[in-house]
Amino acid sequence: MSKQQYDLVIIGAGAGGLIAAGFAVQLGAKVALVEKDRIGGDCTWTGCVPSKALLKVAKVAHHVRTASQYGIMSQTPVTDMAKVQEYLDAAVQQIYKATTPEELRQKGMDVYLGPEGVLTGSARVSQEMREKAVVTFRRQELESRRRELERKRRIFEARMVMLRAEFEVEEEIIQQTISESELLGEEVVQDRGQMVLSRQADSSSYKKDVRAKGARRP
Ligand SMILES: Cc1cc2nc3c(=O)[nH]c(=O)nc-3n(C[C@H](O)[C@H](O)[C@H](O)COP(=O)(O)OP(=O)(O)OC[C@H]3O[C@@H](n4cnc5c(N)ncnc54)[C@H](O)[C@@H]3O)c2cc1C
Repeated sequence: MSKQQYDLVIIGAGAGGLIAAGFAVQLGAKVALVEKDRIGGDCTWTGCVPSKALLKVAKVAHHVRTASQYGIMSQTPVTDMAKVQEYLDAAVQQIYKATTPEELRQKGMDVYLGPEGVLTGSARVSQEMREKAVVTFRRQELESRRRELERKRRIFEARMVMLRAEFEVEEEIIQQTISESELLGEEVVQDRGQMVLSRQADSSSYKKDVRAKGARRP
C-alpha cells in the first residue's frame, strides 16, 4: 500500500469518531478513519439505535394490550422474537447505510478497517507524524502564550500612558504653585517630595504636600 500522509488520524469509527471525521473533512483536513470492528460502534449496533427500536416494540405491545381502554378490542399480542429481531436489524441497517466505508469515502475521508493492530500494520502512524503532531501542539501552546504576553504588554503600555498623564498633571500643579508663590515673594524649597514655603514677611513657614492633586495654599 502506498504511503499516505494525513492531517488527522481518528482511531475508532464510533459515534464520536464519525462526528469528528466528518467535521474535520468539512474543514478541509485530510482524514484517516481507522476502525477495528464495525463502523458505528456502540451507538449503531448495541446502544442508541437498537435500544430505541426495542423501546418502540415494547410500546406497540403495550398499546395493543391496553387498547380496550380506548374502545379498541384486540387479542392479547403474541410476540414473534424472530420478527422483532428483523425489525431491530432493519433499524440498525437504516442508520448504518449512511456510514458504510463507501459512503464515508464519498464524503472525502480514507477508511481503514481491520483487526486490532491495524495502526501498527498498513496504517501505521509514523514517528515523523507523531513528532509533527507534537511540534504542532507545542507551536500552538507557544502561540497562545505569546498572545497572552502581548495582551499583558498592551495593558502595561496603557497603564504607562495613564501614569505619564497623571505625572504631567501633577508637574503642572507644582509649577503653578511655584509660580504663584514666587509672585507672592515666597521662598520655595523642594524637600524630599514636599515643598516648604516660607513667607519672607513674617518668616512663618508651612508645608504643602505637592502630591495632593489640586491642593491650594492654606
Ligand atoms: C443501551 C444503550 C443505549 C444508549 N442510548 C443512547 C442514546 O439514546 N443517545 C445517546 O446519545 N447515547 C446513547 N448511548 C451511548 C452511546 O452509545 C455512546 O455514547 C457512544 O456509542 C459512544 O461513542 P464513541 O465513539 O465514543 O465510542 P464507541 O461507540 O465505543 O466507538 C468506539 C469505536 O472504536 C473502535 N476501536 C476501539 N479501539 C480501537 C483500535 N485500537 N483501533 C481501531 N478501532 C478501535 C471500536 O471498535 C468502536 O467501533 C447508549 C448506550 C447504550 C449502551
